[in-house]
Amino acid sequence: MHNFLPIAYFRNQFVPFAEANVSIATHALHYGTGAFGGMRGLPDPQNPGQILLFRLDRHSQRLSQSARFMHYDLPPDKIQQVIIDFVKKNSPTTSFYIRPFVYTSDLGISPRLHSVEKDFFVYGLELGDYLSPEGVSCRISSWHRQEDRSLPLRGKISGAYITSSLAKTEAVESGFDEAILLNSQGKVSEASGMNIFIVRNGKLITPGFDQDILEGITRDSVITVARSLGIEVIERPVDKSELFIADEVFLSGTAARVTPVRRVENYEYSPQRPVTDQLRDKLTAITENRDPEFRDWVFAIPLN
Ligand code: PMP
Repeated sequence: MHNFLPIAYFRNQFVPFAEANVSIATHALHYGTGAFGGMRGLPDPQNPGQILLFRLDRHSQRLSQSARFMHYDLPPDKIQQVIIDFVKKNSPTTSFYIRPFVYTSDLGISPRLHSVEKDFFVYGLELGDYLSPEGVSCRISSWHRQEDRSLPLRGKISGAYITSSLAKTEAVESGFDEAILLNSQGKVSEASGMNIFIVRNGKLITPGFDQDILEGITRDSVITVARSLGIEVIERPVDKSELFIADEVFLSGTAARVTPVRRVENYEYSPQRPVTDQLRDKLTAITENRDPEFRDWVFAIPLN
């Protein structure tokens, strides 16, 4: 069970988390017609009177885009303001995760996006490591990542997470920590809730936007940081067999941050991961506001 932050935003107001509840007849519960975001924050290690949120502007922009797929007009500025107020009301004292969510809140049946009421809520929970920072074992999933012609993969659509859930459980029930999904072309796409990178001969390679991936904000951050460090980054299709022979493999995501992969199926990687370590350390410094080069990625919210 998680430790939820005490105050939620629900039906246009701030209420105790325990009172932010929906009916069993809620439309989105039946049809997966929701879209969400996920961002991380932490108390500023240098200044305990303020909270740091990582790339609030990009997260707000992506949620606004996801909301459009739900036929809901939610401007990024509105999201940003609610999140700032949400953080101030909760005054978190540990590392936390914010889950903003847009969904069809009508009570009624019939899958559709038009002529149904929508709502926007926000809640949060304390969150340390989502995956082991020591590294994870991955299985190649028997479930494939969906295709953009079936649903909008550039949005974080709640219904799409049935595939992630099937893949994750299949992986865990067969003795692995995490799942890697291939796309319908049989190329490497991403993990259940993270993007994937491989390192070969000092170069960073990751599947591009044409590989049915989510437009991960951590992925974007990793690419930008790697280039700033002089590491060559190539976005292109990755074969399963290339994954097996890579020098290093890691996953990137808001919850998972940069998580090394120890093994995919029976292929083990060296515990020496110079590129992964360098990128992870730099990203940690950025999120803790210790890196002047990327200070504009960190949004500081004073608590008083
Ligand atoms: N892929 C999927 C399917 C995800 O759910 C996530 C988590 N949001 C990611 C990738 C990573 O995206 P981000 O770095 O923006 O958290």
